[in-house]
Amino acid sequence: MRRVYMDNAATTSLNKEVLNAMIPYLTDIYGNPSSLHYFGQQAHTAVENARHQVASALGAADNEIIFTGCGTESDNMALKGVAEKYQNKGKHIITSSVEHHAILHTCQYLEKHGFEITYLPVDEYGMIKAEQVRNAIREDTILVSIMFGNNEVGTIMPIKEIGEICHERSVIFHTDAVQAVGHVEIDVKKMNIDMLSLSAHKLHGPKGVGALYIRKGLIIPPLLHGGAQERKRRAGTENVAGIVGLGKAIELACTDITGNAQRMSSLRDKLIAGIESSIPEVKLNGHRTERLPGNVNFSIKYIEGESILLMLDINGIAASSGSACTSGSLDPSHVLLAMGMPHETAHGSVRLTLGDETTEEDIDYVLSVLPEIVMKLRKMSPLYHG
Ligand SMILES: *Cc1c(COP(=O)(O)O)cnc(C)c1O
Repeated sequence: MRRVYMDNAATTSLNKEVLNAMIPYLTDIYGNPSSLHYFGQQAHTAVENARHQVASALGAADNEIIFTGCGTESDNMALKGVAEKYQNKGKHIITSSVEHHAILHTCQYLEKHGFEITYLPVDEYGMIKAEQVRNAIREDTILVSIMFGNNEVGTIMPIKEIGEICHERSVIFHTDAVQAVGHVEIDVKKMNIDMLSLSAHKLHGPKGVGALYIRKGLIIPPLLHGGAQERKRRAGTENVAGIVGLGKAIELACTDITGNAQRMSSLRDKLIAGIESSIPEVKLNGHRTERLPGNVNFSIKYIEGESILLMLDINGIAASSGSACTSGSLDPSHVLLAMGMPHETAHGSVRLTLGDETTEEDIDYVLSVLPEIVMKLRKMSPLYHG
């Protein structure tokens, strides 16, 4: 059976070149980067080389990059670190209502510890306006954290404008860019970003490694205490092979980021147009143009997202009904609800996310299968009368 993987927002395949770059660090070069002997220095050099690759991709300096265990850890470190360090200045944090749970659940944790969080509402496209941030900033605001691109509906936020406002008001600006890095051009200096989270496995790198960019001059206390790794900002022996993989993956993704984005967004738009022309009563979720190159998300009226996913899976197509972390629960997506969608419609949403390996044939295959699935399910639906 033909298999089509369209869940790249959940995770991506490991690029072969990335794997090849990693292998020596899983075999022959096994030293601890903190060791002063030859074996250690080989590993140390590899970590520093990867740090340079990550920094270059973001327009940052090498010493502004910290390696972490995942995107979630980067988000936790940014939020909890600023909260701890700046709590005497104020206890107010601004975020959006459509963030990944790595941000939202960390905010809920901080609320339990006396911080006040403003969750900015989004419009029907899942978009925040920079002016909302301006209006929400108070004397005691210490941090604004707004995601770069939404993992469910793909909407890209006005990051540069939000960064400008934060700088005018001397408020630290963090962005969870896990879905955007390697897919959208990012320059942390031009965009006034103080902190940025990323994760290797969302850009065809390995799982279990991420990074946090922290602007020079910002001192963020560590989340993990122990050894002096990462200049005392993240204790624990480095995941050397993973870090090498992250460096290689980000370098590959950013080599022709404009070309890659164009290729992927034209496939994306073909899929969107195909679904809209072949299935009646569907609604594209997210912004039509301010959108991650690989994201397609539709609400399909009268039927359950879960049943569509099951039928797609039977036909070899891997998709998702929202974020992988909440699938398995029957709660509708907090992102779609925040966009003002009624519960019933939010239940009938399907996310198809493209990756480097997605081909035109994959798109054609989905378009040959999905309309029929929808028709069959609608015929069985008690809600459907047409
Ligand atoms: C996947 C994802 C994360 C979490 O990254 P992990 O490396 O899986 O912990 C955080 N934020 C967003 C937007 C994501 O898509």
